[in-house]
Amino acid sequence: MGPNVQTFIGCGAPYNEATTVLFGAPFDSTTSYRPGARFASSAIRSESIGIETYSPYQGADLEDFKIFDAGDLDLPFGNAARVMDTIEAFCGKLHDNGKMPVMIGGEHLVTFGAVRAAAARFPDLRVMHFDAHADLRRDYMGEFLSHATVMRRVWDLLGDGRIYQFGIRSGTREEFEWAASHARTELFTLNSIDSCAEAVCRYPAYVSVDLDVIDPSEFPGTGTPEAGGVSFRDLLDALLCLKGLDVVGFDICELSPHYDSSGVSTALACKLLREMLIAYS
Ligand code: MN
Ligand code: MN
Repeated sequence: MGPNVQTFIGCGAPYNEATTVLFGAPFDSTTSYRPGARFASSAIRSESIGIETYSPYQGADLEDFKIFDAGDLDLPFGNAARVMDTIEAFCGKLHDNGKMPVMIGGEHLVTFGAVRAAAARFPDLRVMHFDAHADLRRDYMGEFLSHATVMRRVWDLLGDGRIYQFGIRSGTREEFEWAASHARTELFTLNSIDSCAEAVCRYPAYVSVDLDVIDPSEFPGTGTPEAGGVSFRDLLDALLCLKGLDVVGFDICELSPHYDSSGVSTALACKLLREMLIAYS
């Protein structure tokens, strides 16, 4: 007998044997519109029993891999700086033990903690960012640590030309003007994924998926829905294009399960996570 602990399907490997470690970062304190992303990781774990471990897209099964589900981090709500430190320290320990961190957000700010840990160990790091929103504000209402500034903070670490953005369809004039000379930003679609994957293939890569990149008709369970998004299938195809990259960590963020009483948004997130775990583990 083991303890009665709910994990994501197919993620039952012991820590010592695991090459990949899944964990939740249930934090949404800087959310400006509709909070609730802190409930994503528990919803994803409990709903994951509704999908198969086998992927017909990739002809592989989650159980072919050694993945440990570490549960959720204990995070000090209301103190974004300490939350970043906690996530960075946890991911850093995983990197140092030779394991790939996989994070379920949370609001999108949590990505900054994980990227800080990766950038400290992989100085050539590139970031592949899927989102409806540019997230490139210098500050948001005077705050530097915010879901709306997360990719700008990543730029502070990595500098020009290292951030590849896809599906972006919302931001301020200043963000888009700034992006033109500092990031590589594809508006509305994911069509440049092949050429970007080729440009990044010699470098370690971190993949961050803000799930609101998907159209709200398919994915309504999110804090800041933005019409005109890509389909699940478009996103999955793009993420599978990155399969050959040296992915050193990834996350999915911004599922806010309570805004979708049908549950299809959580089910979509479960399926996407399965595919990413299989593709990058
Ligand atoms: Mn975002
Ligand atoms: Mn977003």
